[in-house]
Order: sequence, then structure tokens, then C-alpha cells
Amino acid sequence: MKIAVDFDGTLVEHKYPEIGRDIPFAMQTLRQLQSDGHLLILFSVREGDLLNEAVDYCRSKGVEFYAVNASSPDDIPSSRRTTRKIDADVFIDDHNLGGLPDWGVIYQMIKSGRPLQPYRGIEDDADSRRQRKGGFLSRLFG
Ligand SMILES: [Mg+2]
Repeated sequence: MKIAVDFDGTLVEHKYPEIGRDIPFAMQTLRQLQSDGHLLILFSVREGDLLNEAVDYCRSKGVEFYAVNASSPDDIPSSRRTTRKIDADVFIDDHNLGGLPDWGVIYQMIKSGRPLQPYRGIEDDADSRRQRKGGFLSRLFG
């Protein structure tokens, strides 16, 4: 899967043009997605030196991008195309509608193979527990 990921506010706290502190589990999740075989694309408003700093920072954390502000390594950078839209299967951005989920949730959504479905992990777990044991009240009074 091609996964486009934003930098400021998504991988690190938003301190642009500085690099903020890591958002918990962001880099670990990207390393795991990378070793699961996904292609990571950095998709950022950063350009030039500021963009290179972000790429170098991620590299220092063990994260290598397949492409940067482009759909593939051979692609023309989005800043020089008529459209800046990147070809990716999913986008991870702190400006997502609904905000940025925790990185653990992001990982589970991608790992499920249904990354565009709302994550219902906790509810699904609760449903299956209820089916196994009956509801709380039936266990209490049943
Ligand atoms: Mg952002």
C-alpha cells in the first residue's frame, strides 16, 4: 500500500519551521509499516532545506521514504506539477477530518487491510466479549 504521511503536526509536534518533538509512536509505527512492506511517501508543505531537514530527521529515526512530495521516486515533484495531488492509497495528516487518530489506531487501521473504514477496535472487542460472556447486567443478575 502507498501511504502518504504529513510531517508537521503528524510525525512531530507542530513547530514549523523548527522540528517539534516526536508524536508518540509515530516513528515506531512508520518503521513497522515499512517492514510490513508498505511504501511511505512524505507529503509536506516543506520545501528545499526545510524539507531536507525533515527527511534527514526521519532517516535518523530509521524511516526511509519511497518518495518525497511525489508519487514515486521518478515522479516530478508536486511543486513543479500542475496538480499537487499525490497518488497514494491513504493519507495520514493532522488536518484529517476528525483529526489525527493515535498512531496505534492508525497502525491497526492499515493492518486490517481496510484503512478507509472507521476503526471500531474497542467496540468490536466489547461486542465479542458480550457475545462470549453475555452483557454486564446478565452476568450480574443472570
Ligand atoms: Mg500538518
